[in-house]
Amino acid sequence: MAKSVDSNPGVSFGVAQETELILQSIDDFIEQEVQPIADDLGETVTNPRLGHEPNGRLTDEVVEAHQEIRRKSAEAGFYAMNMPTDVGGEDVSAITWYRANKHVAKSDVPLSTNVLAGPEGPKPLLAQAEGEQVEKYLKPAMRGEKSTAFGQTEPGVGSDSPNMETRAEKDGDEWVLNGTKQWITNAPYADFIQVFARTSPQEEAGRHGGITCFIVEPDEYDIGSLNNAVGAEGVQAEVHFDDVRLSEDRVLGNVDSAFYDAMSFLGLGRVEIGATAVGHAEWLLDKATEYANSREAFDENIGKYQAVSHKIARGRANAFAADTVGLKCAWMLDQGEQAISESSILKWFATNTVWDIADDVVQIHGANGLAEENPYMDHLHRARIQRIVEGTDEIQLNTIAKQYGVET
Ligand SMILES: Cc1cc2nc3c(=O)[nH]c(=O)nc-3n(C[C@H](O)[C@H](O)[C@H](O)COP(=O)(O)OP(=O)(O)OC[C@H]3O[C@@H](n4cnc5c(N)ncnc54)[C@H](O)[C@@H]3O)c2cc1C
Repeated sequence: MAKSVDSNPGVSFGVAQETELILQSIDDFIEQEVQPIADDLGETVTNPRLGHEPNGRLTDEVVEAHQEIRRKSAEAGFYAMNMPTDVGGEDVSAITWYRANKHVAKSDVPLSTNVLAGPEGPKPLLAQAEGEQVEKYLKPAMRGEKSTAFGQTEPGVGSDSPNMETRAEKDGDEWVLNGTKQWITNAPYADFIQVFARTSPQEEAGRHGGITCFIVEPDEYDIGSLNNAVGAEGVQAEVHFDDVRLSEDRVLGNVDSAFYDAMSFLGLGRVEIGATAVGHAEWLLDKATEYANSREAFDENIGKYQAVSHKIARGRANAFAADTVGLKCAWMLDQGEQAISESSILKWFATNTVWDIADDVVQIHGANGLAEENPYMDHLHRARIQRIVEGTDEIQLNTIAKQYGVET
């Protein structure tokens, strides 16, 4: 006898029709709008060693290509579609946003990552904009007309960010900002930076209190050296703030509470990274499968050898598991939960999964995997970065241990 089934079991892994339509429309957009721009730029955007000025910055034409895609994607309603409707978003669910990020990460077309807002785009922190900030910063960022950056990491602190040295002190009606940030994504090209600074001492405000977010414009800071991560050259940089005077209307959100605000959005950031890692993993596995089914050694396709097919099978199993965790995390966010341990599990597992797969995919391609004209070593570098950014492996594991009761 069939078991009685709860009519609302609370779990559905089906893709909603509306989400399916969005994914199809994104494919059309990439074909019609992104592909021609990528074709015009040619190798400049397929080979990360090209597309830079002698000083290491991205060339103007590459930066403009990114901007054009963001603007067009915003016009088409994709770019920041997870943001609330009252600021110009579409308020799509976290599940749809997860699926869209994963989908875009599987695209073969260079520059497609610009279709959805990344670190340069509007995030929930910026949605706290009030008064003139809305027209000046938030809405242009939503339209892809302005890009931003998020400044937290410093030369002396990364993971331990509440110990930051950047300070802002009140002087009359103004704040005076001093400090240095580094590894700030999009800093060299941003129209404004959201900068975290300590505004009250830890002794008074507590470890996570006493930190405020300020909006700072390019003529108020100096860009220092580029921080070139292998695989993402020309994108991150140091930023110096030297007695920058900021009026009260540059405070984003509430004074002293920026760290708590940022923590409440951490889950979404990790869902985005997880989605990208899963999409990237699936793309790599597709390429490995094609190669395994066509490359011959000892009169057989190499896929016939278990040493090869099991690499792909293990990768598929892990990517499938990571995808399932990603969907669960997104679902939890849609239920209004923060998914703290779950999103750490996702971030750690998905990024380690894509790293392992990227390494196996190089191995499966043999010397062709190492060849400069092929993309696999670039993908390996790209995958490796994800285990460091937005909370390293170790920080995610600390969170998971703590959430599950280990006294750390
Ligand atoms: C490509 C790229 C883009 C980035 N973009 C941005 C950005 O836009 N904005 C921004 O603010 N930052 C950005 N960062 C910085 C990034 O967030 C930091 O690199 C990251 O948080 C780690 O900090 P860290 O490099 O200073 O390492 P550290 O914190 O110095 O850690 C060094 C090592 O010690 C381990 N470790 C530290 N503390 C603990 C602990 N308590 N328990 C166990 N292990 C520990 C770490 O896991 C790591 O392995 C970016 C970095 C890169 C590479």
